[in-house]
Amino acid sequence: MSTTSARSGGASPRTADASGSATPATRGLLRRAERAGLLDVAHRVLAAQRLSTEDGLRLYEADLFVVGELANHVRERLHGDLAFFNVNQHVNYTNVCNKLCRFCAFQRLPNQPGAYVLSPEEAAEKITAQLAEPVTEVHMVAGIHPKLEYAYYLDLLRAVKRARPAIHIKAFTMVELDQIAKKAKKPLEQVLPELIEAGLGSVPGGGAEIFADRVHQESYSLKISGDEWLALARTVHRSGLKSNCTMLHGHIETRAERIDHLDRLRRLQDETGGFQTYIPLSFHPENTEMSDVPGPTALDELREIAVGRLMLDNIPHVKAYWILMDVPVAQTALSFGADDVDGTVVEEKIYHEAGATTPQQVQRDELIRWIRDAGRVPVERDTLYNVLWRGDEPAGGSHAPR
Ligand code: SF4
Repeated sequence: MSTTSARSGGASPRTADASGSATPATRGLLRRAERAGLLDVAHRVLAAQRLSTEDGLRLYEADLFVVGELANHVRERLHGDLAFFNVNQHVNYTNVCNKLCRFCAFQRLPNQPGAYVLSPEEAAEKITAQLAEPVTEVHMVAGIHPKLEYAYYLDLLRAVKRARPAIHIKAFTMVELDQIAKKAKKPLEQVLPELIEAGLGSVPGGGAEIFADRVHQESYSLKISGDEWLALARTVHRSGLKSNCTMLHGHIETRAERIDHLDRLRRLQDETGGFQTYIPLSFHPENTEMSDVPGPTALDELREIAVGRLMLDNIPHVKAYWILMDVPVAQTALSFGADDVDGTVVEEKIYHEAGATTPQQVQRDELIRWIRDAGRVPVERDTLYNVLWRGDEPAGGSHAPR
């Protein structure tokens, strides 16, 4: 494995020529931004200055294509033409959950039809079943099963590692970590080293929803609050683990609540530097208690990618998670601020219970083709963004085809 940083991969877009004058491309961008009422914002973006929360709110009002162009400028400044993916698989070890979030179609009560819990051995069998594939990561999240004991989580990690010792385990949302610490009857600071010892490699970013108290009370009141999510993430980062971060959009939240959410992520990132990737999650209403909410459109999804890229100036990556966007939307998002499309997945349950119609998995070659078709250079990464393969290197290069 190379330890080349993926972040060094791209060429910066040129905003000025040798004499210091704005390039024609920059002048065109500024003209379009002026027509959209975003000239001051565009100047700040070109100067790599932080946008305010007021700027963020204006990004929801302005012409989508100008907002997308500004976000694309930032994306290309950070990553050039590169677009990242990985070869991963998902394991959802239980769908039993007592949190009753109104936007969730995945949860089951213990005796409800379809409720399941995988034993550590059954989870390991799912890993073994993929040994012929070049999988580098397992993404493992689940419901909050009140009866699972602390030892179960340690056994789960150990069983997965035994099945495939080289695999990176990205597991447990902040909500699950809160539950695991309660079951361990110890503070998370003491639990994390034990989870790491058992095989935990990093933490996904789910369960953040929308941090605002109003949304917490109205749609996920039994689960940890926004403040608690952020405090847990701080502890995770202090333990040395990286995590991602998310925002569930397109349900009952206001634009101001979305910007507040992004601002709170940005402030924690200033403090810890522990977030690798921001992933806006589109609400899928089917089979949830909120099935009367229409959910976001493709254009809403593209705007959310762009707003995230522009506001989160200190988080390296923005992901267009193909499993919950239509594939063409994820491809388009690669020119609206996103630089990552997630991975091959294998057996996605959470969004397919809520009506997602994308495939449940994709082959590595197809993912590469999607990225090339979107005009970007595919780069296979591991969970921590070490480059494993680059689509722009000839055979025999340092990241040769695998
Ligand atoms: S979103 Fe997570 S915590 Fe909430 S009900 Fe669904 S599985 Fe449980």
